[in-house]
Amino acid sequence: MKAFAMLGIGKVGFIEKEKPVAGPYDAIVRPLAVSPCTSDIHTVYEGAMGDRHNMILGHEAVGEVVEVGSEVSDFKPGDRVVVPAITPDWRSEAAVRGYPQHSNGLLAGWKFSNFKDGVFGEFFHVNDADMNLAHLPEDIAPETAVMLCDMMTTGFHGAELANIELGATVVCIGIGAVGLMAVAGARLKGAGRIIAVGSRPVSVEAAKFYGANDIVNYKDGDIVDQIMDLTDGKGVDNVIIAGGNSDILVSAVKMTKPGGTVSNVNYFGSGDLIGIPRLEWGCGMAHVDIRGGLCPGGRHRMENLIDLIRYDRVDPSKLITHKFHGMDKLEEALELMKNKPKDLIKPVVIID
Ligand code: NAD
Ligand code: ZN
Repeated sequence: MKAFAMLGIGKVGFIEKEKPVAGPYDAIVRPLAVSPCTSDIHTVYEGAMGDRHNMILGHEAVGEVVEVGSEVSDFKPGDRVVVPAITPDWRSEAAVRGYPQHSNGLLAGWKFSNFKDGVFGEFFHVNDADMNLAHLPEDIAPETAVMLCDMMTTGFHGAELANIELGATVVCIGIGAVGLMAVAGARLKGAGRIIAVGSRPVSVEAAKFYGANDIVNYKDGDIVDQIMDLTDGKGVDNVIIAGGNSDILVSAVKMTKPGGTVSNVNYFGSGDLIGIPRLEWGCGMAHVDIRGGLCPGGRHRMENLIDLIRYDRVDPSKLITHKFHGMDKLEEALELMKNKPKDLIKPVVIID
């Protein structure tokens, strides 16, 4: 089969590979819509997973089941499915503890284009289909639903980790696709005031659409000063980080009130240690929690997110700024994610 792959660090291209085979609990899926991700850029151009050769890229897909293993009970060929970026081993100790993202190792629930081939092929393999796939309702377009696989589950996880109290003042730092879903998640979680930190007009407009009341441009000066001014020197209850490098944690702690939470879903790509400002963290006694997590995957999570779309709680289609048709366009779509032109939030490739 044909697939779009990482050939080595900094190199991508189309390759031919064997069609994957389903084990008794697995499914083989044909993609209907896929989306490249900032994480694919970290993988290819920053070597985030190490050097990989001919590894099929991609972890965001909606597709049609073409084959299932003998023990799969809830899915059959022809079913349209949402496939989460994170497909844990549900029979693992980490899953039993409530952290399936880390099944069989730290972050190891993330298998696509990491421990195995990703979804940018004519076909791809899904482990434990009954636990990891979700049926796609007829009335949701595949290109909309592909925003669930990673962007929505991650942004919403940022809001979940932040422990938002009804009426709380919440800052979302970074308003790419993940941060925008964090804004939407904060609103759903009952935030009072939402302050979004970003700069690109397309993202600023989307942040307002998803519920941001104030916009802070990090290019206009120190964001701690700007947010302290906006809050009359009080600071905020919760900060969700979805952009920037690890220095952003310093700013986040500085602007958070005692009892508040800093929640991170951003990928910190460099440095051995991450700094926390000692004095502002109350010399270690500020009661400011710092939390971070890989997005939840699996069937139940996808079904919940599907309902948020179906019952009009959130419309992730506003994230899609670029639509392509045909697998051949994957390279162009990935290139967009790499170069991040001003008008881009998220591209999708529809496989007609
Ligand atoms: P993105 O690049 O589209 O968005 C990040 C945004 O942050 C960009 O618009 C960028 O301009 C902005 N930014 C950069 N520096 C900033 C600063 N100092 N202050 C405020 N904003 C700043 O990426 P995305 O797809 O939205 O993903 C966001 C992050 O989440 C990435 O690091 C990605 O790897 C990570 N991610 C994590 C998970 C997870 O499970 N935790 C899943 C998917 C993506
Ligand atoms: Zn992704």
